[in-house]
Amino acid sequence: MSNPVKRFIAGAVCPRCGEMDKLRMYRDETREYRECVSCDFSDSMALDGSDMPSQELETRVNRVPEPVDPEAKPLLFKPNPVKK
Ligand SMILES: [Zn+2]
Repeated sequence: MSNPVKRFIAGAVCPRCGEMDKLRMYRDETREYRECVSCDFSDSMALDGSDMPSQELETRVNRVPEPVDPEAKPLLFKPNPVKK
């Protein structure tokens, strides 16, 4: 196979070393790969989503956690103070 085109993923954070913009992705006919140029992290997933990896960890690192912004979270408590 010829060399796959590897592109950096803008804003992606490596789940292993935590560096931003170090993740590159490339793909072949069936799979999409990600690798970190800062550490040796790499993973892959099936392009058609049929991938059922036996390693649970691999599945977890595929998901980039959304940044938690406490300001943006709706608060559930009611602001009305209860009078005693
Ligand atoms: Zn890394």
